[in-house]
Amino acid sequence: MRVDYFPLLVSPGEDEPAHALLRRLARRNGIDNRGVMTELTGLSASRLRRGDGVEKLAHLLNCNPDVLSHSTAQSIVKGIVSLRGEPLRLADDLLQKERRVCPVCISEGAYQRFWFELSFVSTCPKHRVALVDACSCGKPLSWDDVNIEKCSHCEDGSVYRLTPLTPHEDVLMMNRWALGRLGVGRTVSIPILDSMPLWIALNVVSRVGVVAIKGYTFWRGVDGYDTPAHEIRAAGFRILQSGRLDQLLDEVYGQYLAEKTKNYAETYRTIYGFFGEWFKVWYNSKYFVEGARPFADIVIANAARKKVVDLEMKKTTRHAKRTSSAVGRSGRGRASARDVAPAC
Ligand SMILES: [Zn+2]
Ligand SMILES: [Zn+2]
Repeated sequence: MRVDYFPLLVSPGEDEPAHALLRRLARRNGIDNRGVMTELTGLSASRLRRGDGVEKLAHLLNCNPDVLSHSTAQSIVKGIVSLRGEPLRLADDLLQKERRVCPVCISEGAYQRFWFELSFVSTCPKHRVALVDACSCGKPLSWDDVNIEKCSHCEDGSVYRLTPLTPHEDVLMMNRWALGRLGVGRTVSIPILDSMPLWIALNVVSRVGVVAIKGYTFWRGVDGYDTPAHEIRAAGFRILQSGRLDQLLDEVYGQYLAEKTKNYAETYRTIYGFFGEWFKVWYNSKYFVEGARPFADIVIANAARKKVVDLEMKKTTRHAKRTSSAVGRSGRGRASARDVAPAC
């Protein structure tokens, strides 16, 4: 490592991830070529995104590696990273290419925050504005940009010139809760979700959100509907926060009754659509965690009131008791992570 190439060092900002700090170091020393930077340091921004090289970067900057690790995702198993103690899905929960900022945050400190890169966060709850992903000239922000406040395509653009959009209160509330789980801002307690690992809670929120907005339907992924994903998550969050899951399931069952054309055998799948099918698969899987029991109990009790008692569900009660919460958090198991709880 050629430390002498970096006469100007940088210090990590609060919530700044390691890959962004490496880019800031390069910019400060006038290096705009990623290949040169990797050659000089042995570090790459893409590997730092998964925690690879954090110690080395801390050594180069003469700072505490724990400070960098605190805001940097760390790969734990294939496709899963840990961020502030919460497992997250690399492909679904972390944006890899898109660059977004809160214009007010970066006006207070011109550096990246790790939470700008979380797909389930679309606002800055502190400043009550939507994150922006484009420059005032209209071009998208990217990781090739030299200045954090503008794109690399124009001369005088700046996100500071944009009029920040005010997000819907439900979206802000959901984001505030998710960020509170990661130690950003104040903690918002939602007991039914707090006892689940964040990745599972996010998946539950998304599934409930689709039911809340689309009713009895098919699952297309949280990004697969004409309603934006952040609105779907906000709707699901609102249902769970206000204790209306049982009522929502009754409404979906009402739609099933109104639309059915013949007498199907009534199962979780038939009475709740995709939601029932997903729930049953998840409940039967290693990804079901005891922390999700209060949520599961509402679904099972609702189905039981409709005389739908699935024999397989009884069997899984014993299975769930054997399954430690650590399994749900680690992402290990025969079933693919994308198949059950984590898939969004
Ligand atoms: Zn902000
Ligand atoms: Zn621009």
